[in-house]
Amino acid sequence: MTKGCLVVVSGFSGAGKGTLMKSLIQKYDNYALSVSATTRNPRPGEEEGVSYFFKTKEQFEEMIATDALVEYAQYVGNYYGTPKAFVEDKRKEGKDVLLEIEIQGALKIKKKFPDALLIFITPPSAEELKNRLVGRGTETMDVINKRLTRAITESEGVENYDYILVNDDIDTCTEKLHNLIQTAHERASQHMDIIEEIKEDLRRIEHV
Ligand code: 5GP
Repeated sequence: MTKGCLVVVSGFSGAGKGTLMKSLIQKYDNYALSVSATTRNPRPGEEEGVSYFFKTKEQFEEMIATDALVEYAQYVGNYYGTPKAFVEDKRKEGKDVLLEIEIQGALKIKKKFPDALLIFITPPSAEELKNRLVGRGTETMDVINKRLTRAITESEGVENYDYILVNDDIDTCTEKLHNLIQTAHERASQHMDIIEEIKEDLRRIEHV
């Protein structure tokens, strides 16, 4: 069985990544969404082990020390990281693993796994971004402003991504994302084993 793809989805806070991930998983079977560990406090409605694994700083640092994370980063004063075991197991099962992570983590993933697909999601405009953050009603104005400032920094590394998707309509964006991932399965690097097999067979045929 071919290993599943590692798909990194990043984007400005408020770009609609969470909704997009949910929509993708509801529509298609072959995806596994990685649940990150974080030291930030749960928002109302967030569940342990579903939204995040909520950790203390000490617990998180223990995960770093025991090499239990594929990558981790700090974002607006908190740690966020991707647990390793889930990613490895699901990819072995042939599932495409989705990581919804910020840019520092995304670049670490690209270095460790050059085959990873990096996709950046953006809302159509800055105004729309602010409206979505305010409309969510889960953060104070102070945190919203920090996230908007952080968005400027995030846009500076965006040229390292493979694709940028504008999320102005969730269904269209879901389809585009799915198609990009499916196309990534056909990358040459994913098919080297079949080429090797054919080469072997050709050599054998040549010698009969
Ligand atoms: P939020 O606090 O809004 O849930 O997430 C803040 C930022 O952290 C988002 O950009 C989100 O994609 C990112 N993030 C979530 N989990 C991880 C992770 O495991 N690693 C990294 N590097 N970033 C993450």
